[in-house]
Amino acid sequence: MNDVTIVGSVAFDDLEMPSGTFEDVLGGAATYASIAASLMARPRLVGVVGNDFGDEHLAMLKERGIDCAGLERANGKTFRWRGRYSKDLGSRETLDTQLNVFADFKPKLPATYTESPFVLLGNIHPALQLDVLAQVKGKTPKLIAADTMNLWIASEPKLLGELIEKIDLLVINDEEAKQLAGIDNIARAAAEIRRKYSLQHKDRPLRLIVKKGEHGALLFDDAGPFFAPAYPLEEVRDPTGAGDTFAGGVMGYLAHVGDASPLSLRRAIFHGSALGSFCVEDIGTRRLAAISKADYRARIEAFARFVDYGGDLWDKAGVD
Ligand code: AMP
Repeated sequence: MNDVTIVGSVAFDDLEMPSGTFEDVLGGAATYASIAASLMARPRLVGVVGNDFGDEHLAMLKERGIDCAGLERANGKTFRWRGRYSKDLGSRETLDTQLNVFADFKPKLPATYTESPFVLLGNIHPALQLDVLAQVKGKTPKLIAADTMNLWIASEPKLLGELIEKIDLLVINDEEAKQLAGIDNIARAAAEIRRKYSLQHKDRPLRLIVKKGEHGALLFDDAGPFFAPAYPLEEVRDPTGAGDTFAGGVMGYLAHVGDASPLSLRRAIFHGSALGSFCVEDIGTRRLAAISKADYRARIEAFARFVDYGGDLWDKAGVD
């Protein structure tokens, strides 16, 4: 089993949903991503929590085989985010973000973490992502992926640019891709992002995954564009963390197979989507943390049937 080092927020979320308000829900990008990755690989979690972070949460993470040696406990309160969702859960607004112990966080990777062949730099300040990158560079990981958000694209374009030039895979949503490129057409935005940020590392051109929430995810790499849908669910309870779960699932699968070939990446996207579909079935990490191997296999098999068109579209059409 391969390791995947995952850095990002570990949080308490207050979620105002149409179904009710849920407070002190365990969340954070690195939490969702690590739990997702733990289904297939050994996540090594890098983050910070405060004295209010209960041992039951730590126990839950460790039970899933997540290495928490890089999860620092600092004096103060854990990062907190409050969001309100629209009636159809299709959009949300951030009501409050309290950095708390994150404000002074200086990630320090335990020695074992720096040897991980796969690294996921979750959505945090690009200076922190660069800091982690500096600690793993030179050890030549097989794949370094990063996520980011509109806030950093707008407020830290220079640092973010420096980061994207140094990674192998950028995982962002479609609005962020358009914002980053300054282009409204997603295919052109993707091409521009790949062109602009691949200049520094021509030997390992940047690959890009564009997440489209309930509408699936696109991959842009040298093999051409690829698309995988999201698995259709009749009931969605809480979309929080689905994007991070997706990224964790992608990295977990790559770590499991031990390579980052174009075909592995395409397959990894189905695993990310399958795990994302579990994530939204309940509040916070509840459903994700309860998935059995059998549930997982059943969802992957259902997914394979969902996208199965019998192969070779041209021959089946009977067109000469
Ligand atoms: P997602 O729904 O995939 O965008 O991820 C939601 C998670 O991101 C929540 O659990 C939040 O705690 C976390 N989060 C929200 N805002 C930030 C931020 N500015 N930096 C880091 N993590 C955040």
